[in-house]
Amino acid sequence: MSHLFPTYARWEVEPDMAEGSFIVDKAGKKYLDFTSGIGVCNLGHRPEAVQTAITDQLNQFWHVSNLFEQGQQEKAAKMLADAAGLDAVFFSNSGAEANEGAIKLARKATGREKIITFNQSFHGRTFATMAATGQEKIKSGYGSMLQTFKYAEFNNIDSLKKLIDQDTAAVMLEIVQGEGGIYPANEDFLKEVQTLCKENGARLIIDEIQTGIGRSGQPFAFQHYELQPDIITAAKGLGSGLPIGAVVGKKELKDAFGPGSHGSTFGGNPLSIASALATMNCIFNESFLKEVQQKSDYLVKKLQETLQKNNHVLEIRHLGLMVGIELNGDLSGLLQELREEGLLVLTAGVNVLRLLPPLTVSKEEIDLAIHTISKILNKQTVAAI
Ligand SMILES: *Cc1c(COP(=O)(O)O)cnc(C)c1O
Repeated sequence: MSHLFPTYARWEVEPDMAEGSFIVDKAGKKYLDFTSGIGVCNLGHRPEAVQTAITDQLNQFWHVSNLFEQGQQEKAAKMLADAAGLDAVFFSNSGAEANEGAIKLARKATGREKIITFNQSFHGRTFATMAATGQEKIKSGYGSMLQTFKYAEFNNIDSLKKLIDQDTAAVMLEIVQGEGGIYPANEDFLKEVQTLCKENGARLIIDEIQTGIGRSGQPFAFQHYELQPDIITAAKGLGSGLPIGAVVGKKELKDAFGPGSHGSTFGGNPLSIASALATMNCIFNESFLKEVQQKSDYLVKKLQETLQKNNHVLEIRHLGLMVGIELNGDLSGLLQELREEGLLVLTAGVNVLRLLPPLTVSKEEIDLAIHTISKILNKQTVAAI
């Protein structure tokens, strides 16, 4: 019997080694990894620059606590804030904790409690972020939720207008709803959300946990639309696999997070910071991000061409290298068939195949993934989905 709580429906693959875009399992089988550890390993597995940075830090010190001055933490905060066009950073250990921090910050800074999020959103699994999440299945069985969240319809500005008022502390959203099914927000909707926030004195929080750190082809996805959020959150790709999250906000918010107001024992620990610095150094670079855009164009165009005539495919949606293929049926068997063919992919929502390749993926690897996907989707047996 397993001594783990069975919170995860596990795959039959047990990794032994991973490098670049590939994972090799204990049986020696090689898989092309289009999951990137769920949007985490944006530079592929064990990128050399990050491995070197972590190893160097391992030889200096591992943990001292946030009572100490830490130059590397300052450096990482500056790099992150500069990339986002914001000013101040709080480091956490995970995405949910970053969103918790953002929620606390918006409430404290405004003295208001109401926070508006959207149906089908995902913001995490702690009590506040579970309440923020607009999906019933995440909350089921846990009893009463924090009551200060209200849910609007994504991409429907009238729905937000009905809920937002002078008691609203913040509106929080993803630029592309990730777990919810790869639903990108419309540009007009996003601009109107920002205007409504300004008119009502509410803070705009953008959850960039899945869309950030280069995934969209910009450092952060909101930068495609020239938005000016008050707060963003990052995590997943920030540490290339070491646990780290961050709340990034405008300087006006600094007073709300004074000494003693918030904290975390491990938040911004030296190893994760070393990893984040090296990761950001590689990704927040114009030519790197341009290549992400080019790969995204190539992947999506080729997917559309290849799957054009496949009648299981309802829609292909994407921003950068975050791609969803909506299918007319259940996906569980399909994922396993793809694994048998050596390709690892994810699901999102109920019927969306989600691709999160490493941002370092090559054209040949994209070709290989598309070949495998079309082979499986074109098989007669899939007619049953
Ligand atoms: C993954 C994710 C989270 C939660 O991050 P954890 O590190 O798992 O707590 C929150 N928001 C979004 C958009 C995510 O994709």
